[in-house]
Amino acid sequence: MPRPITYSPAYTIVPTYECFNRCTYCNFRREPGQDAWLSLAEAETIFESLQGTGTIEILILSGEVHPQSDRRQAWFQHIYDLCQLALSQGFLPHTNAGPLSFAEMEALKMVNVSMGLMLEQTTSKLLETVHKHAPSKVPELRVRQLEQAGELQIPFTTGLLLGIGETVADWQDTLETIARLHRRYGHIQEVILQPHSPGNQQTGEMASFPPEKLLNAIAIARQILPDEIAIQIPPNLIASPEYLIACLEAGASDLGGISPKDEVNPDYPHPRVLELSQTIAAAGFKLVPRLPVYPQFRHWLRDPLRQAICKRDRENTTPQMPKTIDNRSRRSLSH
Ligand code: SF4
Repeated sequence: MPRPITYSPAYTIVPTYECFNRCTYCNFRREPGQDAWLSLAEAETIFESLQGTGTIEILILSGEVHPQSDRRQAWFQHIYDLCQLALSQGFLPHTNAGPLSFAEMEALKMVNVSMGLMLEQTTSKLLETVHKHAPSKVPELRVRQLEQAGELQIPFTTGLLLGIGETVADWQDTLETIARLHRRYGHIQEVILQPHSPGNQQTGEMASFPPEKLLNAIAIARQILPDEIAIQIPPNLIASPEYLIACLEAGASDLGGISPKDEVNPDYPHPRVLELSQTIAAAGFKLVPRLPVYPQFRHWLRDPLRQAICKRDRENTTPQMPKTIDNRSRRSLSH
């Protein structure tokens, strides 16, 4: 029997690219005030175009407005409204919008089947380098996000950004932190291992994360993380089909969402779903679509989320291979 490898048929919308942080590896951000926010009307047009394409997940991936800004409430409300709109159109929202307050998370829980935030790395030494001008990347703040998600019973995706100046011991510490929080709350559904991949927009000069080290990272993650947590790798950031297969053999079991564009790594086009499927099938793996919430967490969801999932079940729209959109893998979450 081929071993199943999952992915989520998805589409990424970006409420705004503006962000008050300045991570030196960022290929996503625009200066605050220099980006027109995605309007609800524009989002509605996108959602209409996605009907019948097999898309299930809408990833709401946003740059951040400062928590003390007088624009924060409008930013948050806009994200909430986009989630609600996606849900009303039959899609399943998953939001990653940086660190949120407990009240913000609690509100978004009602309109998201799952949420996410990359822990990235728990070492504070990165605050002296790549995160020197990124207040949202204070490790304690991000650990607190994972705690809040656990307290609120929000199915959660997190992960590590690899190759930004950390050590293998730092990976272990970060993975152990995730494992500890999961043992306490049982809420982590997947951990992304995202190799840093330089892009055209970033301000810092950093080499690509060496592909062979990813195999080591997967092996360490598989040792430290509880078995029920899936390890996700972004196939567009993997150096070759051979390395992709090696990553799966090392223990990765999920390829993340599938969307026309990787908004975080726009310089790295993705293989199409069909190509991915054929590539891994040749090595004894089977690409299988999944929902953005893993089955073991469904009982945490309330209406209207539960209804939306039941509707998918009734329509027997457990994801099929999307037919018409340009299906390319999306996301790495780290932005
Ligand atoms: S990586 Fe994320 S948090 Fe950092 S500057 Fe870019 S958008 Fe902002």
